[in-house]
Amino acid sequence: MTSDRSSPLPFLPFALPEIGEDDIAEVVDTLRSGWITTGPKAKRFEADFKAWLGDGGDDTEGLHCIAVNSATAGLHLALEAIGIVPGDEVITTTHTFTATAEVVRYLGADVKLVDIAPATLNIAPAAVEAAITPRTKAILPVHYAGLAADMPAILEIARRHGLKVVEDAAHALPTTSAGRRIGTLASDATVFSFYANKTITTGEGGMLVTRDAALAKRAQIMRLHGMSRDAFDRFTATVPSWYYEIVAPGFKYNLTDIAAALGLQQLKKAHAFAQRRAAIAERYNAAFADLPVITAPTAPPGELHPWHLYVLRLGPEAGIARNAFIERLFEAGIGCSVHYIPLHLQPYWRDRYDLKPADFPASQQAYEQMLSLPIYSRMSDGDVDRVIAAVRGLLVRA
Ligand SMILES: *Cc1c(COP(=O)(O)O)cnc(C)c1O
Repeated sequence: MTSDRSSPLPFLPFALPEIGEDDIAEVVDTLRSGWITTGPKAKRFEADFKAWLGDGGDDTEGLHCIAVNSATAGLHLALEAIGIVPGDEVITTTHTFTATAEVVRYLGADVKLVDIAPATLNIAPAAVEAAITPRTKAILPVHYAGLAADMPAILEIARRHGLKVVEDAAHALPTTSAGRRIGTLASDATVFSFYANKTITTGEGGMLVTRDAALAKRAQIMRLHGMSRDAFDRFTATVPSWYYEIVAPGFKYNLTDIAAALGLQQLKKAHAFAQRRAAIAERYNAAFADLPVITAPTAPPGELHPWHLYVLRLGPEAGIARNAFIERLFEAGIGCSVHYIPLHLQPYWRDRYDLKPADFPASQQAYEQMLSLPIYSRMSDGDVDRVIAAVRGLLVRA
């Protein structure tokens, strides 16, 4: 460690949630209410989430919002509900977190990993089309870092080949694609994450969104043990509160009211959080424009990009390798990370499907060059200055 006794700045973490007194008060209210697991607040969070998805004027008619205890759970429920079974294939990007793909394996189906477009780091539509086989059932795009994947192209490919589309929107709140809010597009389902470091947080949590009433019904039943209250005696108007039927071996994926309480307040601040992160991204992009780096991909003008991640790539002229660069930043008291080690390099995925880096040249190159810088609403302007100074200090030649 290079000791810097003159200015003992505290370590700047890579990510921190922004929890306000409003969030705390809402949680305390839940704790005092006597109802702490799934109940009135989870229901209100679902209703508020639907209203929020429509706050930009998009049509949310018929949209179902289903609160779950993680995005992983939501993706699992969505794939189960669209009927993914052993023998099926689901196409997704290698440039993602393993949660995107593992849910396909939960169902005994196979994952077809494909490469990204280097300009956006998002799944490449041409690679998707090339990977389609008679076994392909669905496409699972990820809006990497919060930048919308090329949804017009992906939805068109899906339509042409009769495939389902489930969006991994873990980073995409709020994101737009061709002016429309992610969550309201013509895909079969969209899943958001409220994990601790995501764009809003409930600690752990997620939201499954769909326009398909049958899909919503199935996901609601499977979210809680496969319990259904609809099967009760059809000749009686009311179902006794104690009565239920088990119609499938379901899961335990419901969101607690304690978590939903956080969600209710966090959601109100989603746009403010995104604006703050966008301002930081703008400063980074301007400050790094003259450096031997590839700055983070930006959204087309007028589109929303919530900047869950700021991914900097070191160009060949950087004169410092990515790993050493991260170490130097840590020594300067700045936390950073890598999102993600591509799935084709992970032992499980690599070995199961005999994957080679040469099959994913764009993701592989991005991986070798990239790091994620801190970008969160609690960062002060001084924190941002500090990151900029440290990055420039490592790359500006005298
Ligand atoms: C965080 C994340 C998930 C999983 O979200 P959880 O809510 O933690 O289950 C899935 N996909 C991507 C791309 C993520 O970043």
